[in-house]
Amino acid sequence: MSETKHTPGRWILVNGDEVCHEHEDSEGLLPTVCTVFKGDDFEGNAALILAAPDLLAALQQVKCPACNGKGTRHKYCSLCGDSTFDHECNDGDVPCDACDGTGQPPYVSAAIAKATGATKVEG
Ligand SMILES: [Zn+2]
Ligand SMILES: [Zn+2]
Repeated sequence: MSETKHTPGRWILVNGDEVCHEHEDSEGLLPTVCTVFKGDDFEGNAALILAAPDLLAALQQVKCPACNGKGTRHKYCSLCGDSTFDHECNDGDVPCDACDGTGQPPYVSAAIAKATGATKVEG
């Protein structure tokens, strides 16, 4: 897990449009994350930004449903039903093809990468 590069949550709205960390810093100030533009979509944008730390934390808990987050799936040998049959057994764990062995669905990994800066922010 890479180190956190953002101000930790919870984030709260202060002075109407400032998104801040909820606890005061050593100087008694609430660290400001950003100011939300007071345009037509202000309420929706503010709600989404305030939820961002929770959304990231929730995504980080999501496990690949095919392998339950293990990143591997058990592959059963088709010959093992007959234990007397001498064979080269290929029973064992193989990388989960649903998540490429990462343990998380690709769309979840992609969203986390975007949210943590692992995907370069353009602009
Ligand atoms: Zn998987
Ligand atoms: Zn076998």
